[in-house]
Amino acid sequence: MPTTFYIKTYGCQMNERDSEALACLLEMHGYVETHEESTADVLIFNTCSVRDQAERKVIGKVGIMKKLKRERPALVIGVIGCMAQRLGEELLKELPHLDFVAGTDQLQNIPAILDECIAKKTRKCAIEMGPGVFRELDGHRPGRLIAEVSVMRGCDQFCTYCVVPYCRGREKSRPISAIVDEVKMLADTGTKEILLLGQNITAYGVSEARAQGIYTPEFSAFADLLEALQEVDGIERIRFTSPHVRFMNARFVEAVASLPKVCKSFHVPVQSGSDRILKLMHRNYTAAEYLDRISAIKAKVPQATFSTDIIVGFCSETQEEFEMTHQVMREVGYDMAYIFRYSQREGTMASKTLPDDIPEEVKHERNQILLAELNSHVAAANAALVGATMPVLVEGPSARGPKRWYGRTDTNKMLLFDHTEDIHIGDIRNFTITRATENALYGK
Ligand code: SF4
Repeated sequence: MPTTFYIKTYGCQMNERDSEALACLLEMHGYVETHEESTADVLIFNTCSVRDQAERKVIGKVGIMKKLKRERPALVIGVIGCMAQRLGEELLKELPHLDFVAGTDQLQNIPAILDECIAKKTRKCAIEMGPGVFRELDGHRPGRLIAEVSVMRGCDQFCTYCVVPYCRGREKSRPISAIVDEVKMLADTGTKEILLLGQNITAYGVSEARAQGIYTPEFSAFADLLEALQEVDGIERIRFTSPHVRFMNARFVEAVASLPKVCKSFHVPVQSGSDRILKLMHRNYTAAEYLDRISAIKAKVPQATFSTDIIVGFCSETQEEFEMTHQVMREVGYDMAYIFRYSQREGTMASKTLPDDIPEEVKHERNQILLAELNSHVAAANAALVGATMPVLVEGPSARGPKRWYGRTDTNKMLLFDHTEDIHIGDIRNFTITRATENALYGK
């Protein structure tokens, strides 16, 4: 009987992608994936450390598995990802029924770790981070219309509130040729849209260029990558997340504006509209510089849409400073925003040096104000689209029933429509928008 495995993924798209690549790797080593958590021979938890709550969830979940392990002593349980990297041996101590912990740079070693745990019945902690160039796992589930592709790992920004540089390590970028080969392989199996992933994606290639002494403010290996991917036959759309304003130079703006396959919706985290708070966060830009980059894109692509990440109630944020964030929201007119109430993360610079001194009710109130601003903007922006015709990539039946299908516009808006037999998954078709709400467009 083959050994079966089950992977439970927490957190971001990067983790989802790592889980997919790991599943393909384990299958290559003879393991068989199952979707039955309760009967799997190997249980792997791919974890997130961004919020304290995410880590507590995993501890609770793995804790419950103790009973299962008692009933089936041969069961192997592992924790991988950011939390594994951050806590390492501590996790093995806290959870005595846990068999292995593998950090974020250890994905390709997991089959060997598993073999060892199974054969020798040992417990293992592997959290070393490899220096320099790394080999990304490029396995994908075949036939996915939209596929994620990791182009770099880690982050060198060290924003004071963020654990990513400690969990994912320093920035390392894959060569363009390896990414293009992976994307060609995806196109050959039916992928039409790719989502490029990197914690600080506009810094793609920067640390390598710095090491070679060729980095200049005009440098943008990410623009070079987009140009190379534009040429891949079969790929119709390219999206990416997340850029950092510091590296969104003129070369980058020109590339995203002029390359037809690059979708004209951009997720650009702002975090705050106050220069003092941005400095405390160590974001390395001012609100004016942020708005300047958005305006540069809008000038070349008037139909572009924007989304963002915002933290409200960061250490010492005054009402006036919060209003500055509100003002940036009004100026940009975001179509989507992840608005977080600040919470301290152990190990970050902010947790060591800046008191978390904004009362919860104030954070909550600020959060609600920005959500209301977002919703009213989106409702108005969507209503203004009624009557327009837009190309939509058809993704398939929606949760609202088999006859109601959905797709996405280039600007990343969901469009619902009544399915007819001549429309197929993967088609890019023009739809006229007949109705709009703040959540979706309706078209025919
Ligand atoms: S740029 Fe993003 S990933 Fe990097 S430290 Fe800042 S918030 Fe974290």
